Amino acid sequence: MRAEGQLLVATTNTGKLREYQRLLADLPVKLYALKDLAERLPEVAETGATFEENALLKARTYSAQAKLPVLADDSGLMVDALDGAPSVYSARYAPTAPARNAKLLAALADVPIEQRTARFVCVIAVVVPLTDGALTAIAEGHLEGRIAFEARGQNGFGYDPIFLLPDGRTLAELLPAEKDAISHRGKALAKLKPLLLPMLSL
Ligand code: IMP
Repeated sequence: MRAEGQLLVATTNTGKLREYQRLLADLPVKLYALKDLAERLPEVAETGATFEENALLKARTYSAQAKLPVLADDSGLMVDALDGAPSVYSARYAPTAPARNAKLLAALADVPIEQRTARFVCVIAVVVPLTDGALTAIAEGHLEGRIAFEARGQNGFGYDPIFLLPDGRTLAELLPAEKDAISHRGKALAKLKPLLLPMLSL
C-alpha cells in the first residue's frame, strides 16, 4: 500500500502552482512541487500537438521519474482572430509575460471588440504509478472571453491582464477565489476531484 495522499504538482510556473495550492487545499493530500524534490528532474519538452498530448506527456514522464502520483497541466489561450493561436505555444509566444501580452495586443490592434473573442483552455492529466502500470485520469476546462485593448489588473499571471470577461473586468482584476470559481483550471479540476482521492489511496 502506498503512503497515502501524495501528489506532485509538476509545474515550474509559479502562477499555476499557486492556483493548484488553493484549488487542492480542501483535499487531505500532501502536495509537492518540482522544486521540493531532492533531485532536480529534467524539464519535459512539450512536443505534443495538443494540450492533451502535452499534459499526458508531462504527467507520465514526471511520475515515472519521481515515482510519485503527478498532476500536470497544459494550458493556453486561443484567439479566434488569430485562427486559434497562440494555443499550445502560449508560453513560447514571446520571452516574458508582459512581452507576450504586448505582442498579442499589437497583433489585434485593428480588430474590433466583436472579433476579439478568445478562450483559455486547460487540460489536466493525473498519473499514478503502480507496480504493474499506471492509473491515468484527464479532464479539460474552458473559459470564454475577449482580448482587451490594454492590460489591466494586478492579480493572476500570464495573459490574465488582457483577458476580458463579460462583466468588463479583466481576469487580473478578479480576486483569487473569484478566478478559481470560473477559470478553465478550476473547471477542469472540479471534474477530476472526485477521482483524485480514490486514485491516490490505492
Ligand atoms: P504551459 O501550460 O506551461 O505550456 O504554459 C501555459 C501558457 O499559457 C503560459 O504562457 C501561461 O501564462 C498561459 N496561461 C495558462 N493558464 C493561464 C491563466 O490562467 N492565466 C493566464 N495565462 C495562462
